[in-house]
Amino acid sequence: MREGARLAQCFLEPVGVFLRRRSAGAGRFLAVGGRGKAARMIDLHTHSKVSDGQYSPAELVQMAKAQGLTAMALTDHDTTGGLAEAMEAARALDFELVTGVEMSAFVGEREIHLLGHFIDPGDTALLGFVRTLRERRIERVRRMIERLNAAGVALTFEEVAGFCEGDSIGRTHLAQALWKRGHIQNFKEAFSRFIGKGRPGFVERTRVSSEEAIALIHGAGGTVTLAHGLAYGVTHEELAQLAAQGLDGLEVAHPDHDADMRRTIARWAEEFDLVPTAGSDFHGERVIPERRLCECGMARAELEALRRRRSGAR
Ligand SMILES: [Zn+2]
Ligand SMILES: [Zn+2]
Repeated sequence: MREGARLAQCFLEPVGVFLRRRSAGAGRFLAVGGRGKAARMIDLHTHSKVSDGQYSPAELVQMAKAQGLTAMALTDHDTTGGLAEAMEAARALDFELVTGVEMSAFVGEREIHLLGHFIDPGDTALLGFVRTLRERRIERVRRMIERLNAAGVALTFEEVAGFCEGDSIGRTHLAQALWKRGHIQNFKEAFSRFIGKGRPGFVERTRVSSEEAIALIHGAGGTVTLAHGLAYGVTHEELAQLAAQGLDGLEVAHPDHDADMRRTIARWAEEFDLVPTAGSDFHGERVIPERRLCECGMARAELEALRRRRSGAR
């Protein structure tokens, strides 16, 4: 693997979370339901370069169509900025795009990711919230740089911003800038020495509660699905809280869920009456090399079950 590719892969490792890396190909096309690969060509979890992926929204849609997917959701981190481009590309190709977003939130002390699907991209409350999040992220990075500078680590905001193509500047970009400056040898070192919790450059992120995120997504007409819950260590009790707060779906098939985890979480989906979903969490092979679009596909019936949970359909 090229050094750059390996480094880029490292940068996308969610912080503080040990993600089991599955060998490429293992478990590919493991379905939530349905029979045969052709029945499971829907991917409800992808990222474009508007957050931290490799491809533009239009390129992603074109790839999905070319690879025979029948529907795809674009779910960039904390931003809806890529949806207009993706929708336009989908219209031109007569492809079904599900509008989406992936929001970071907390249930108690647990950081979780919530996928919003079928959202209205023009919803003013959601747009306002996304704008506020972006401002808070920029502010946080500036404060972290100040702290690093005070600790004798030379780094400027412009250097960090140079690594961020989209809307979601954060610690991954700080780590890249630290690496380029020669302050660190690898991504882990950025966190263990400089920007991890308790390190000299760390600044706590403003927390969004799961209730707040769920209400916003519902308010924008969308459904809320817990992404890669077991990979993030979500407990049965935390899931019960989320279900009581109005969660609609549970991502069962995800590259970081092994067969045991999928069995457990599928059982929980049934117990809490949540729609099981699947997503590849594709970011582009340069970013996370072993993930493929529709690696975890879902069936049409599940997509329609989720669609029926939309706020407007309740
Ligand atoms: Zn996620
Ligand atoms: Zn994701």
